[in-house]
Amino acid sequence: MRSTIFLLIAAATCGVFASSSIPANRQSLNPQSSISNQPSAISHQRSVLIVDGESAGPYHRWQLTTPVLKTILAETGLFSVEVVTAPAAAGELAGFNPTFTGHGAVVLNYDAPDDRWPAALKAAFETYVRDGGGLVIVHAADNAFAGWRAYNEMIGVGGWRNRNENAGPHWFVKDGALTSDPSPGPAGSHGTRLPFAVTVRDPNHPIVKGLPTTWMHQGDELYASLRGPGRNMTVLATAHSDPANHGTGRDEPQLIVVQYGRGRIFHTTLGHDVNAMSSVDFVTTLQRGVEWAATGAVTQKVPVSFPTATTVSYRADLAAMDPAFKNGLNPLDPPRK
Ligand code: ZN
Repeated sequence: MRSTIFLLIAAATCGVFASSSIPANRQSLNPQSSISNQPSAISHQRSVLIVDGESAGPYHRWQLTTPVLKTILAETGLFSVEVVTAPAAAGELAGFNPTFTGHGAVVLNYDAPDDRWPAALKAAFETYVRDGGGLVIVHAADNAFAGWRAYNEMIGVGGWRNRNENAGPHWFVKDGALTSDPSPGPAGSHGTRLPFAVTVRDPNHPIVKGLPTTWMHQGDELYASLRGPGRNMTVLATAHSDPANHGTGRDEPQLIVVQYGRGRIFHTTLGHDVNAMSSVDFVTTLQRGVEWAATGAVTQKVPVSFPTATTVSYRADLAAMDPAFKNGLNPLDPPRK
């Protein structure tokens, strides 16, 4: 990446988000707001449930990233946000029975194996989405539940946890069209975390409408080689997986929407860690994606600090939620002498 990168320290962007207009015709919602700083807007908020509690390895630190997701959603003034943390041990799941129905959207910051959730919990989740509940898949949540058929239909594509051609074909965009490749092989890959360009493929979809055609995303894992049924799936944005960085040479889906029954799913492959989540495009697309999943519409404006085709832009206030931030942006900084 030869382009000069300007880091826009965008600490002032909270004001941009807080000033987003809230339409007067929003329906009354869950009045229990856990963290909103806009009490007057509570009746206009959507209830959002973030689920965390497990990942496949210590590199996905949900203990650090869930507070970032919560902050990002609460600052819109559109949502009330609850967090439920699932026990990691299978034997303790018997008492884990969150109520999905009644929430505008469930956000999964969660990656567990197939057998973790009891059948009744999986059934309740399927019913919630099929009957019109919103679902948002963040990064490694598309690794979860590799053998749960309905879940894979909801996410469209996924990776790792021994997925292979039996999960479905690879999906990518070629010559402007969504294309699949059924060739056998594993699912899921990424290179070194570097900034990369994201390109919009469906500019009229509410989540990406008004965003630049191409923008730079902060250093993150560029997910590639994902596989899945791809049913009722629309790819909103792709990124080119560079062979020079262990990539596929394909334009890989990064922002995806799926229809499952009457439920709307927004799937972002972005957001490996706090640093990646501080990228203004992650913030903006998550806020808009959750609103769309919950309501079918997007009312939020694009912040002036949104990255451009040649510059990344990140939120220093969010990046600082990682205790390591004070040591510098390690993956991006040259070694100190
Ligand atoms: Zn990751």
